[in-house]
Amino acid sequence: MDQYRVFGNPIKQSRSPFIHQKFAEQTNEQLNYQSEYVEIGEFAQAVQHLISVGGKGANVTAPFKEEAMALCDKLTERAKLAGAVNTLSFVNGEVWGDTTDGDGLVNDLLANDVVLKNKKILLLGAGGAAKGVILPLLEQSPAQLVVANRTVSKAEAIIQQYPKHPITCCSFEEVTDHKFDVIINATSAGLNGQALPISEEVIQQNVTCYDMTYGKTLTPFLQLAKQRNAVKLIDGLGMLVGQAAVSFAIWRNTQPETKQVLALLREEILK
Ligand code: NDP
Repeated sequence: MDQYRVFGNPIKQSRSPFIHQKFAEQTNEQLNYQSEYVEIGEFAQAVQHLISVGGKGANVTAPFKEEAMALCDKLTERAKLAGAVNTLSFVNGEVWGDTTDGDGLVNDLLANDVVLKNKKILLLGAGGAAKGVILPLLEQSPAQLVVANRTVSKAEAIIQQYPKHPITCCSFEEVTDHKFDVIINATSAGLNGQALPISEEVIQQNVTCYDMTYGKTLTPFLQLAKQRNAVKLIDGLGMLVGQAAVSFAIWRNTQPETKQVLALLREEILK
């Protein structure tokens, strides 16, 4: 049976085996997808071992996404721009790398009927997750994309990669525009229960608030959005399923349906 892995450290929390098993059942694809804990410094070995046992591909999660990029023979444009790879394919003795987080996010926004074309989008954060979603967001032709980050120099470095697009950056404190249509939290602040230092006024009633983080209860950012009566609150579980669907399609050349798997995963998370 074709072998796939998700490599990470830590990895126990990964929902990817659950998602890919459901996709395989749904599409009648015969594959084995498992999570694998990799020691720091042993990522390349883990990939080589998978290839040696006939592995077909792998997902990569923190902290190996940059290392994964470095060992690829071929990269997609979006992976180059993101500076990270979350999907490896082993093809004719070569390692091909792609990043599917951005499409996962955009597909989830569109599935939730969020319009991006000609809209003003605020992206909070400039880490790996933020970098991976910028090109797919810009491909939706927003009127403006503002990247706000605690360390502004990181956001500046990112926007320089997109000289021909309507993208700007600033610190959290400098976000004073109250006319955003979509605000996406791509920081890890909520994981530690930390609030983001943005003015509450930035969240107006017509805004869709999306948090890449997810959990059993509303994240701190989505709690704030709820208090502010934001029109739509969406967590990152749909992005997780969405990025997995894009990886699955790359490997198996068949597009799985995400809605039902997302509903099953939501049940799992709440257990
Ligand atoms: P990184 O460590 O690469 O980046 C973290 C980001 O959060 C940086 O912009 C950092 O700012 C910012 N940050 C961290 N703490 C604070 C704080 N207290 N106040 C303000 N900003 C803060 O992480 P990733 O980009 O890989 O992941 C970010 C989040 O996205 C995580 O919660 C992760 O779980 C989630 N994610 C979800 C996915 C999904 O499929 N749903 C996929 C990928 C990620 P600075 O640059 O100043 O340090």
